Amino acid sequence: MATTTESPLDSFLTTLDRVGASSGTHPDVLKLMRKPQRILQVELPLERDDGSLEIFHGYRVQHNDVRGPYKGGVRFHPHVALDEVTALAAWMTLKTAVVDIPYGGAKGGITVDPTDLSDRELQRLSRMFVERLGTAIGPNRDIPAPDVNTNAQIMAWFTDEYSRLHGESGHAEAAFTGKPVVLGGSQGRESATGRGGLFVLLEYLRSQDITDLTGMTIAVQGFGNVGSYFASLADQAGFTIVAISDAEGGTYHPQGADISQMVTARNQAGKLDTNVCYPKLGVEAVGATQDDCEPISNEDLLKLEVDILVPAAIENQITATNVADIKAKYVLELANGPTTPAADESLAKRNVSVIPDILANAGGVTVSYFEWTQNLQNLYWSQDEVNTKLEAKMKQATNEIIAMQKEGGGTLREAAYRLAIKRIEAAMLLRGWAHPRGEDSVGHVNGNT
Ligand code: NAD
Repeated sequence: MATTTESPLDSFLTTLDRVGASSGTHPDVLKLMRKPQRILQVELPLERDDGSLEIFHGYRVQHNDVRGPYKGGVRFHPHVALDEVTALAAWMTLKTAVVDIPYGGAKGGITVDPTDLSDRELQRLSRMFVERLGTAIGPNRDIPAPDVNTNAQIMAWFTDEYSRLHGESGHAEAAFTGKPVVLGGSQGRESATGRGGLFVLLEYLRSQDITDLTGMTIAVQGFGNVGSYFASLADQAGFTIVAISDAEGGTYHPQGADISQMVTARNQAGKLDTNVCYPKLGVEAVGATQDDCEPISNEDLLKLEVDILVPAAIENQITATNVADIKAKYVLELANGPTTPAADESLAKRNVSVIPDILANAGGVTVSYFEWTQNLQNLYWSQDEVNTKLEAKMKQATNEIIAMQKEGGGTLREAAYRLAIKRIEAAMLLRGWAHPRGEDSVGHVNGNT
């Protein structure tokens, strides 16, 4: 679903090769990282409510499991394609290593516009996807989660179908994360990606000696799960959210928007109404004047003069074409792959700090890990416990990446890749997937055994 012709997989490979070469990574480790271990493609013949048959295409790409079972979301979108799913799966391998949780990386998707389907059709399609993936997924093998256009309800259907197929011994509740709380989901999972992103942002700003958030402005592209939770929490933390958008465009509130009112209105209407103003400071929304806000396109939102730009929608939003117009000082990548390598380079030259996706949005998979561990133990944690553990994980990963950047230079993205690759390399060497250079496979120096 990338919106330019740039390939997300090329973006991943470009950065992997650059960081791998400059950090002296074992060449066999890089070879293994370049290719996914397994690609599953399934045809999904769906009987529509009117009796007609439509065939959809589904994917599950299992990139790497050297550090633990495959882990990653499933998206439903008309532009889902193999190149994109493969890149997203590879980024999951890096992301789980960045936050040091015992998983590998995977991603899945169905090429479908879910808004064209009735609820019953969506349920049949979701169940069929799980059925067709068969034994390739499971609590110790590959654990899917929500992503673009999938949610707790879809995870509930996935879980139910999995238990129907595998019975009690299948531990179905641990086979998926992002489930509704009543079906074994974790407190705090729904807000985890946005909340984790805020923890990372605050910790990064703190490292720059910025603790006074008064007047710091943020523009958020994307008003789905990730964008809306992040915007609400950042608003509560003291930032001023001046712009927010969904696929059809957004609104610009120069003095700041009341995000909680916008979320309520969005939940009622099902989408963001860009003709209504929600100014902060307690002005009644209906009484607001046109001067309080103006509609803004997704392209123009990216170019606003704000302190922090937060892409939270889809890939390839900041590209060689628009990078010169980006005025933010910080970019917090809550979406996966929103900045192309060329744009990244240009932002680095201008000293714009890009907090990379594999760190910024890792809160989701971190709480997915908490959900899985709770399921396996059948022992459940409070929301406070989850949020406290999440904060600790996100702060630790942020500080490790800052330290890595201080030590080896380069951008935060390069430092995050270095940290992840180092952990993946250690696991590959220990498992014997690659052999230590100058040593035999059990670690003895050649000739000296
Ligand atoms: P979502 O489906 O809940 O929301 C997506 C939002 O993006 C919607 O507001 C949609 O209208 C908007 N959008 C779609 N196309 C757009 C376009 N062309 N321009 C502007 N906005 C557009 O999805 P989500 O779960 O919030 O995921 C958003 C991003 O965060 C994705 O890149 C996803 O991979 C990433 N992510 C999600 C999670 C998670 O836990 N859900 C975790 C890590 C990363």
